[in-house]
Amino acid sequence: MNEVKQPKKPLIYYYCIAILVLMLFNFLAMPWLMQRQIIQVDYGTFMTMIEERDIGQVEIQEQENQIIFTNAENTQVYKTGMVFDPDLTQRLFDSGAVFSGEIIEQMSPVLSFLLTWILPIIIFIGFGQYMSRKLMERAGGPNSMSFGMGKSNAKVYVKSSAGIKFSDVAGEDEAKESLAEIVDYLHNPNKYREVGAAMPKGVLLVGPPGTGKTMLAKAVAGEANVPFFSMSGSEFVEMFVGMGAAKVRDLFKQAKEKAPCIVFIDEIDAIGKKREGQIGGNDEREQTLNQLLTEMDGFEENSGVIILAATNRPESLDPALTRPGRFDRRVPVELPDLKGREEILKVHAKKIKIADNVDFSVIARMASGASGAELANIVNEAALRAVRDGRKFVNQADLEESIEVVIAGYQKKNAILTNKEKLIVSYHEIGHALVAALQNHSAPVQKITIVPRTSGALGYTMQVDEGNHYLMTKEEIENKIATYTGGRAAEEVVFGSVTTGASNDIEQATKLARAMITRYGMSDEFDMVAMETVTNQYLGGDASLSCSAETQTLIDQKVVELVKKQHEKAIQILTENRKKLDELAQFLYERETITGEEFMGILNDGGNAA
Ligand code: ADP
Repeated sequence: MNEVKQPKKPLIYYYCIAILVLMLFNFLAMPWLMQRQIIQVDYGTFMTMIEERDIGQVEIQEQENQIIFTNAENTQVYKTGMVFDPDLTQRLFDSGAVFSGEIIEQMSPVLSFLLTWILPIIIFIGFGQYMSRKLMERAGGPNSMSFGMGKSNAKVYVKSSAGIKFSDVAGEDEAKESLAEIVDYLHNPNKYREVGAAMPKGVLLVGPPGTGKTMLAKAVAGEANVPFFSMSGSEFVEMFVGMGAAKVRDLFKQAKEKAPCIVFIDEIDAIGKKREGQIGGNDEREQTLNQLLTEMDGFEENSGVIILAATNRPESLDPALTRPGRFDRRVPVELPDLKGREEILKVHAKKIKIADNVDFSVIARMASGASGAELANIVNEAALRAVRDGRKFVNQADLEESIEVVIAGYQKKNAILTNKEKLIVSYHEIGHALVAALQNHSAPVQKITIVPRTSGALGYTMQVDEGNHYLMTKEEIENKIATYTGGRAAEEVVFGSVTTGASNDIEQATKLARAMITRYGMSDEFDMVAMETVTNQYLGGDASLSCSAETQTLIDQKVVELVKKQHEKAIQILTENRKKLDELAQFLYERETITGEEFMGILNDGGNAA
C-alpha cells in the first residue's frame, strides 16, 4: 500500500545545533577574543608612549588598579598596572591624549552591542520557541497549534492494487459477508439510492485482539478501491481540552473531501467509553466523543463516507455511539474455528517455504483457541526454527514445536531438574493425562512433555479437541476440573506429599468451578440465577460479582465442595490404576516427551488396567 506520510522536518535540529554553536562561541570564544585584543604592558612603556605622543584614549580604572589605553591610531588596546604618579594627568594633558571617564570600547560598538544584547535575546527567544513547539508536538502531533491546530494526522492509504483484499483474510466468512455489502455500495451507490436504501454510517467490528479487525477494514478499502483513513482512538486523546475534538473535525473534513472513502478508527473504546454522570469526568474525552457524534450526525447518509471502528471492549462503549444512525451495524469478528485456523495457517504459509507433506489440519487442531495473529506468529516461529536448524523448508515438526513455543514459551535449555524433581513432574503430567483418558467426555491427549519451558512450566499435557465445541455439559466441565486436579492427585498417591507445581492447575480448576455456579447455573442451590456478570468478554473474561456477601460466602463454600469432589475422584481413578500410572510415568521420565499414540498404546496394552 502506498502510505502517504508527512515528511519529518529535521530543520529544527539544525536550528538547535546553530543555537548551541552560537552559545558556545559567545561563552567561550568571546572572552578569549577580548583578552587577545588587550596587550598588557609595563608602566615604563606607557610612559614612553606618552612621551612619544603615541597615545589615543586613556581610562584610569582606579578600582581595578589599572589603566586601559590605546595607541594614537586607536587600533590597539593596552593595559598596565597603576603606579603612584601624581602628575600623570598633567603629562597626559600635554601629550594630547583623551582621558575622559568614558569606558574604552574594546571592540567595535556595534559588534559589542550585537554580542552582548541581541545574541542572548535571539537565543532566548529561539530556545523558548523550540521548547514550546516541542511541547505542542507532544500534545498534538507536529502540526498542532501554530501550524494548524488539531490536525488529525490520519494515515491515508491511497488506493492501490497491492492493497489487502478479502482473500487475504482467511476464515471470518460471516464478517466478510456483512462487509461485502459495503464494498458493493461503494462500487455502485446509485443502486442503493434508487431504492432509497441507506447504508449504515458506521460499522463496529467487535472481537478479541488479533482476529483480523484491522485487516478486514483495510480489505474493505482495498476491495472497494477507495482511500482509507486510519486512526487509533488513543490518538484523539489530547492533553488540552478541545484538541481531540479539533482532530475529529479535521479527520472528517479530509474524509468528506475524498469521499467515497473509508475512515477506520481502531480501539474506539479509547474515546467512546461510557460518559459518566459525575462532575470532574474527563472533559477532553467527552468533548472528543461529542464531536464524533456530531460529525456522524452531520453528514448525509449517502455521502460515501463509511466509518469502520474496531474494539475489543464493546460493553464499555457509550450507548449514544451504538444507537441507530451511528454505529448501527455490529460485525462480530470471533476467534477462528478449526476450519478458519487451517485457512489462516495456509494463508500465512504462502509467505514461507514449506515442505509438501505438512498437514495443516493437525496444526490447526493443536492450536485451538489461537487468534489469527497468534497463528501468523506460529508460522513465523516455525520458519525461524527451520533457519536455526539450517534447513531450507519448514516441516511439520517446526510448526508443532512453534505452537508449544507460542503457548508455553521456549524450551529452557539450562534448567536442570534433579532426578527426583523430574520424576515428580513425570507423575504429575501422567496424572493429568490418565485422569483425562479414563473419564468419558474428555479431549484426547495429544502430547505429554516434561521439558521445562521459559514460561516457567516444568511440563505439560496437551489435549486436543477433535472438532469444535460450542456447548459443554456439566459432566464435561466436572471432568475437566478432575483432570486439572489429576497432577496433584498423582503426587499424593505416589509420594504422599505435595509440591508447588500445581498452582496453575488450582487456578484453572477454581475458575471453572466458580463459573459453573455463578454463570452457568449448574448448582442446585442457586438454580438459574446469575451471580456474576462478565465485564470483559473478549479480554480474558473478567467477571464482577453481583450478589450479597452471604451469597458470596455460600458460593465460596460450593466452589470448594465442587473442586474437592473432583479431586477425590481423580485420586480414586489414579489409585485404581496405579500400575499404569507407574508404567507411564517411568516411560515419560526416560523419554521426556511422549505422543498421544504412545500414551494410548501403553494404556491399552494388555488391558490389565484395573
Ligand atoms: P485486530 O485488529 O483484530 O487486533 P489485526 O487485523 O491487526 O487484528 O491482525 C493482526 C495480524 O494477525 C494481521 O496482520 C495478520 O497477519 C494476522 N491475522 C489475524 N486474523 C487473520 C485472518 N483472519 N487471516 C489472516 N491473517 C490474520
